[in-house]
Amino acid sequence: MSNDKVKDSALFDKIVANISKNGPLSLDSYISHALGDPDYGYYHSRDPFGTSGDFITAPEISGLFGEMCGLYLAHIAELSGLREPAIFELGPGRASLILDMRHAWQQVMPTLVTAPLHLLETSPRLRCIQQDLLSGVNFFFHENLDHLPAQPIFAIANEFFDALPVSQAILRQNANDGGGIWRHRLVGLLNGQLGFIDGPPLSPEEVSDWALEILQTEETDPLPSSVINNHTIAEYCPLAVTYAGKIAHHLRAYGGACLIIDYGRDGQSGGSLQAVANHQPVDVFYQPGSADLSHWVDFSAIRRAAEGAGARLVGPITQGEFLRNIGIIQRSEALAKMADVETRRGLFAAVDRLVSNQHMGSAFKVALMLPPGAGLPPGFTTCSEGAALS
Ligand code: SAH
Repeated sequence: MSNDKVKDSALFDKIVANISKNGPLSLDSYISHALGDPDYGYYHSRDPFGTSGDFITAPEISGLFGEMCGLYLAHIAELSGLREPAIFELGPGRASLILDMRHAWQQVMPTLVTAPLHLLETSPRLRCIQQDLLSGVNFFFHENLDHLPAQPIFAIANEFFDALPVSQAILRQNANDGGGIWRHRLVGLLNGQLGFIDGPPLSPEEVSDWALEILQTEETDPLPSSVINNHTIAEYCPLAVTYAGKIAHHLRAYGGACLIIDYGRDGQSGGSLQAVANHQPVDVFYQPGSADLSHWVDFSAIRRAAEGAGARLVGPITQGEFLRNIGIIQRSEALAKMADVETRRGLFAAVDRLVSNQHMGSAFKVALMLPPGAGLPPGFTTCSEGAALS
């Protein structure tokens, strides 16, 4: 047996022992174990990025992505007129994005390079990689968002929210009157294997937090009421709501902005939880700790959390639209003029991957969290504030 196999079955055994002792787990607790177990969790035991890992994120595709995000945040920082801001990144991965942003700031706004840098990262393995790559930089690691610095923050979260543990509920309809109740979907043991089992009904507060009344009544929602039927699955990411609320609270108190980029929708996506191991889709219970588990981000839940804490969320718009709005095509054409044929080809292929609808352009969305105010910031002028986007 390979070392990885031993580790994978070790986490399975640990989770099974936990369920046998304490009963079924909520889905988000199961995902927390699978991704974050200190010994065998997916993010703790491997580097998931790049061609040898399970996924390639936008900053890993091209340095141009980080450069454009850096130039954009510098412009927003300049417009805000705020002094002594801090920089904050949620889930820095291999630190490619922050390094590319700092490179851009060096040219246009060196004060952002010397500003203190705060990183939310829980994986010891990725912290080591980030520490090496950021040697000489004044930065601080955070385990959660409880100790943000008392100053304005300009923040970015790329493919962070999709990696947070999500919960699910399932609609069980009553055959007699068609009425139904939402039940938690828990993780239990079925013939010695991990599987979904029905849990208790959602409380009225949970139905409201998950916005399930909206799901059942709004025709314009990405999951319109016409497709709500027996066994429909709904998702809710408690940590996303907590983190969005904390950032919003901070922005309201001190000012700044937070750019959020992720695949998702402006509403529920239903059962979007997916598992990927070795570039292949696998069952969500496949060898816990060896597969990446992620879900489609519900930007409407992030907006509700932002508004609940007195801030606002502009967008989402598609990544393709956002990057075009902020000039990625013009920038790539300018770079291409100075490049040899092969580099130019690589550059245009990377831009296509980032903006075209066949690749990341439409599945990925971009939103900007801001302190309360009115009007649309640059980059989002094509969006109607709070418009639904599926
Ligand atoms: N932003 C990077 C990496 C995205 S992967 C990029 O675009 O390439 C998700 C990142 O979030 C990883 O760094 C992972 O370790 C971190 N992460 C995942 N769950 C987290 C949690 N609960 N708290 C803090 N960081 C987390």
